[in-house]
Amino acid sequence: APEVLSANDLSVVFQGPRPLLKPRPDAFVALQPVSLTLRQGETLGIVGESGSGKSTLAQALLRLVRSSGEIWLGDTRIDQLGNRALRLERRHMQIVFQDPFGALSPRMTIEDIVSEGLCFHFPELDRRALRDRVVETLSSVGLATDALARYPHEFSGGQRARIALARALILHPRILVLDEPTSSLDRTVQKQLIELLRTLQRERQLSYLFISHDLAVIRAMAHRVMVLKEGEMVEHGPTPEVIKRPRHAYTRQLIAAAFHRSD
Ligand code: ADP
Repeated sequence: APEVLSANDLSVVFQGPRPLLKPRPDAFVALQPVSLTLRQGETLGIVGESGSGKSTLAQALLRLVRSSGEIWLGDTRIDQLGNRALRLERRHMQIVFQDPFGALSPRMTIEDIVSEGLCFHFPELDRRALRDRVVETLSSVGLATDALARYPHEFSGGQRARIALARALILHPRILVLDEPTSSLDRTVQKQLIELLRTLQRERQLSYLFISHDLAVIRAMAHRVMVLKEGEMVEHGPTPEVIKRPRHAYTRQLIAAAFHRSD
């Protein structure tokens, strides 16, 4: 399968003090140089404890934070593009944020939330065409048409995750960056969402960059996994192999936390 995304020596340094308790130097390396590739139809898992740099990596790939290194979206190098060209390219790589409630504007209807990106990229579409696309996309994530005129707070956590997914999918991206999409959901709802993501991947040959602190979820989703510890990639390989024969002590810790608890 063709490569849809690759990054070479991607790194992120945050300048200035951060608004947190622990003091640290003004230049903080949140992501040490890391290289990765993602193929069509493949899921790359990014795992690590809170603060290990997973979101920073995702945001660097989308150029939502300043980074060094090359980023290729298919055949297009995007790390040097200007804002306008970048926004057009980003149609192919959509991010679904953690905490869908916080990520969805509370005062917008589901129709407006889901169609927003489509309006931006295809301003020529009329209201009728937009609505058709929204209805079709909602149905692909298991939501009915009566959702259109309602607001995010009227939905459960699992449904809000589906709305956030629909908002990304409506642009027919090749890549979805999923930042802890299931973390706020209970196990049953989590399983349903993972099942949906698998189906969508199969049907559309989607590629996922799947971020989670939970190796159990990564094992269920990711063909390959990359382990981040304090901004450094400490291990990378096919998920079953990494889980079976972890090379790094930190990976063994994550495995213990995910699989050997008594719950
Ligand atoms: P994770 O997603 O693995 O929980 P993050 O990528 O959010 O971790 O954070 C990695 C580190 O970078 C943390 O120490 C965090 O405090 C720091 N960080 C994240 N965003 C910023 C920012 N905008 N400015 C300064 N430091 C940041």
